[in-house]
Amino acid sequence: MEFIDLKRQYAELADKINPAITNVMKNASFIMGEEVELFEKELCGFLGVKHAIACASGTDALQLIYMAYDIKPGDAVFCPDVTFIASVEPAVMLGGVPVFCDIDRDTYTICPVSLEKQIKEVIKEGKYRPRFVTTVDFLGNPAHIDEIRSICNKYNLIMIEDGAQSFGAYYKGRPCCGFGDIAATSFFPAKPLGCYGDGGAVFTNDDEIATLCKSLRVHGKGSSKYDNVRIGLNSRLDTIQAAVLRVKLKALVDYEISNRESIALKYDETLKNHYKTPFVQKECKSIYAQYALLADSEKKRDDARKALDAAGIPNMIYYPTPQHMLKVFKGAPLYGETFNNSIEYCKKTFSVPMHAYLDEVAQNEIIEVLLNCK
Ligand SMILES: *Cc1c(COP(=O)(O)O)cnc(C)c1O
Repeated sequence: MEFIDLKRQYAELADKINPAITNVMKNASFIMGEEVELFEKELCGFLGVKHAIACASGTDALQLIYMAYDIKPGDAVFCPDVTFIASVEPAVMLGGVPVFCDIDRDTYTICPVSLEKQIKEVIKEGKYRPRFVTTVDFLGNPAHIDEIRSICNKYNLIMIEDGAQSFGAYYKGRPCCGFGDIAATSFFPAKPLGCYGDGGAVFTNDDEIATLCKSLRVHGKGSSKYDNVRIGLNSRLDTIQAAVLRVKLKALVDYEISNRESIALKYDETLKNHYKTPFVQKECKSIYAQYALLADSEKKRDDARKALDAAGIPNMIYYPTPQHMLKVFKGAPLYGETFNNSIEYCKKTFSVPMHAYLDEVAQNEIIEVLLNCK
């Protein structure tokens, strides 16, 4: 059994993906070719945003964003304590200061109360300049977008939606990756929309910032790539990846989103009396980049994982360590936050196989093991 069955997905889509790749090789336009432009247009159409800027990874998408807004040393970046390091890593590399916030105990996304408390602490201390809130749609589940938007408005902060895990999710009827002042996603193979290598994109309705991102992704180009007007990156998307992504975007919209939803619903219904199943806010839809369950205790979580291992069922922990406890972030200002929810979450969480091609037999087997080890 696979945790995320990319082989099965390829088998289903091979008759479309193979000619798409061959076509790129025939045309020999390997970097930022026509397929990239078409893919960017399709992304804009799906998300309802004005600009999609494809780039080399989700991490680069976030770096392009921090650079486009001219992050300065000492700028505070507020972000959830449970996420993948790439949400703030590029900001820190550019001199930003990560200020971690506790997570909400139900959605596991950034807690608006902890966020506002941390913002006030930074203002009171006066050492760092509050600048960005990088909110993460954790494991594909939309964050508290409206609450975070009002906090950003109140304190005049730039809102970044890290939608690396949430392409295909919806917040109150609108697709994730279309919120905030600007958003980023990742096309890493295991993400809900993945390519066959690394890839990512930036999304925004701001014309000026979009122009800056497009310049920054090609060595700070001006009117041409040899007219360099600022320091940038080499962060383009390969044409082959765009060709693959165009096929996969269609599959995602046509049936993968609804398949993932039915699989999650079945897990929810069969497991909800035994584990804490994912909580999705009203009028929202998760894309379940991961299907995470919470056991009653760390020991019970570890027991469940042992039972899954013994049955040959792959399982993972997203994520084992809160950001504020990572070695690399020791020394980050914590302002007395106790991170109770994030610490508890990391002790009790585990994720089980979830993808659009998980068949009923396999899912029943997983459910049976989880019910029997209680
Ligand atoms: C995967 C991920 C990223 C980084 O994406 P890459 O394409 O791997 O660089 C950033 N943020 C979150 C929350 C992610 O899960």
